[in-house]
Amino acid sequence: MYSYMTHLQCPKCKQSYEKGDIHHLCECGSPLLVQYDLERVKQEWTKDSLAEEPLSLWRYHPLLPVEQAKDVVTFGEGMTPLLPMHQYGATIGLPQLFMKDEGLLPTGSFKARGAAVGVSMAKALGIKELAMPTNGNAGAAWAQYGARAGLRAHVVMPEDAPEITRKEVAISGGHLTLIDGLISDAGKVVAEAIRTYGYYDASTLKEPYRIEGKKTMGLEICEQLKWTLPDVILYPTGGGVGLIGIYKAIQELRTIGWVKGEMPRLVAVQAEGCAPIVDAFHEGRTESTFFENAHTAAFGINVPKAIGDFLVLEAIYETNGCAIALSDEDILHEQQVVAQLEGAFLCPEGAATFAAAKQLVQTGWLKEDDVVICLNTGMGVKYPESVQVESPVISKNGSI
Ligand SMILES: *Cc1c(COP(=O)(O)O)cnc(C)c1O
Ligand SMILES: [Zn+2]
Repeated sequence: MYSYMTHLQCPKCKQSYEKGDIHHLCECGSPLLVQYDLERVKQEWTKDSLAEEPLSLWRYHPLLPVEQAKDVVTFGEGMTPLLPMHQYGATIGLPQLFMKDEGLLPTGSFKARGAAVGVSMAKALGIKELAMPTNGNAGAAWAQYGARAGLRAHVVMPEDAPEITRKEVAISGGHLTLIDGLISDAGKVVAEAIRTYGYYDASTLKEPYRIEGKKTMGLEICEQLKWTLPDVILYPTGGGVGLIGIYKAIQELRTIGWVKGEMPRLVAVQAEGCAPIVDAFHEGRTESTFFENAHTAAFGINVPKAIGDFLVLEAIYETNGCAIALSDEDILHEQQVVAQLEGAFLCPEGAATFAAAKQLVQTGWLKEDDVVICLNTGMGVKYPESVQVESPVISKNGSI
């Protein structure tokens, strides 16, 4: 069987919804999560059969919602490298530090994972036009995957989102609207357009399949570590979909018996200028409150209130993880340090996870023998304006 999806379920009130129909939020307002027949997966899916599959996220199709291979919309996304960071790790005191480099994905960010699965499902459901608010990368990815699937994407983004993402939307025929405001304001514009024109709502977690695509980061990490679990995973958290997805992935792998042992401690990394999850964590709350005047150079995590905040916080509490905020100064400094020590040009969001790892070593929360994974969620090349080098030109007159 290509997919073992059985239905959708609300994590709050437990109500079930049938597969095959269009669904958004639960009646109670919560996001819905895809459920699979994990007993059957356990009996029928083997690591040997997995070894025969292509090196893309579609290798995990039994644990993905797309029911027929013909509906898959793909640019070959997935199986990004899990790289040891020896020099940098030695410097900060984490000899077993790895980077999962999502900058290598199509569209230059890990939003490609969510778009691949989300657009494939939209296509399978017969959708022709979708709408979404974005901080840039998701809109770019959905417009590009949408074009490949023959879908039109209506994308609403803040005018200070990374400029290249506008061009990605435009060149692939997406319909772009810029607003003077935050992603939360873009969300209101999208909601209005959906009421007026009946577009398919592809907003984060109002569309239940994007998370299944992002989940594959967790599946890949486990496979790349030969089905052992790392101790800690640091994730730059905006809407938190990746973190919830990784948590879901590892739970599913544990249920089918492919991995054993303690859950990795999950760390939500945010910027001091937009830290609703960190604030909630420090106060021991199970939901966040709207973060006023949100602002950070790590634009992908500039989300003042996430609809899945309670799921992010649950994943942190359940795994004995934590949440930590960094200043933009620390984030951009670390972006340079990692580039100098490892040659890796990270996006600011990814750099934040390294700045966080460094601080968590200093506070003793991370130990020298921990196997630690930092997620670089996008390529630095998409954010040329984030580079703080005063002048990249050393010599203009031909001497070197
Ligand atoms: C969207 C984005 C994030 C945050 O992802 P969430 O799953 O919404 O928390 C982090 N980094 C980059 C580069 C992004 O584009
Ligand atoms: Zn519900």
